[in-house]
Amino acid sequence: MKETYLGVNVSPLSYEGIISEIKSRMTRNEQSTIIAVNPEKIISAQKNPEVKDLINNSTFQIADGVGVLLASKVKGGKISSRVTGVDMMGKLLDFAASEGHPVYFYGAKEEIVTKAISEITKERPNIIVAGYTNGYDKHEDALIKRIHKSGAKVLFVALGSPKQELWIKRNLSNLPNVLVFQGVGGSFDVFSGLVKRAPALFRKFGVEWLYRLASDPSRLKRQMNLPVFLVKVLKERK
Ligand code: UDP
Repeated sequence: MKETYLGVNVSPLSYEGIISEIKSRMTRNEQSTIIAVNPEKIISAQKNPEVKDLINNSTFQIADGVGVLLASKVKGGKISSRVTGVDMMGKLLDFAASEGHPVYFYGAKEEIVTKAISEITKERPNIIVAGYTNGYDKHEDALIKRIHKSGAKVLFVALGSPKQELWIKRNLSNLPNVLVFQGVGGSFDVFSGLVKRAPALFRKFGVEWLYRLASDPSRLKRQMNLPVFLVKVLKERK
């Protein structure tokens, strides 16, 4: 049962719940799309119906960001912990490695995506890398052919939002053999180790935003979406 905040759906499933649903959808040859939902995207969905549809038409909307968690607590929802985009990608990589599903990586700068793949394969020697393409390649038709031919079953798209979600929507039917699509934003940067994640203590308390704000104060405007979102949710009638 999905929860809805300001008209935007969020899945209450844990990582394990999502993986297990994906597994059974794959046996039925059904494609799945995973989108990370946070207050910034929910606010943007209020102004842009296309963004709202993009989120609501995805198979799994994961509660990335402490804002959605707080909203669920306040409204008596069931979302008990965050499901972050980067950790979801890690769980999907483990799953793909153990089941032998080939994985394609599309997005980020060339040195980032190649370093990310080398770190990922170091940790998961069984993983089958179907291929990769950096996120600045402009030949979409050729890229689609390459992904199709690669035999990939799982595709990560790291172009930032909403670019990656629009790309996935546009190409879902062009890639019928790819069964899992996740838009992962800056996750290749994190897996590459070239961009540092917030320290463990910040992650533990769900305040990575505080760390990011301190390292890059220009993010303040984006982060003002969190209080705006919470006020709107509180005012929202059930
Ligand atoms: N990126 C890309 N092609 C583009 C624009 C961005 O591959 O045309 C990559 C960029 O190199 C970075 C990621 O997309 O790796 C964007 O990460 P960001 O953290 O900005 O995404 P967010 O999760 O905030 O949407």
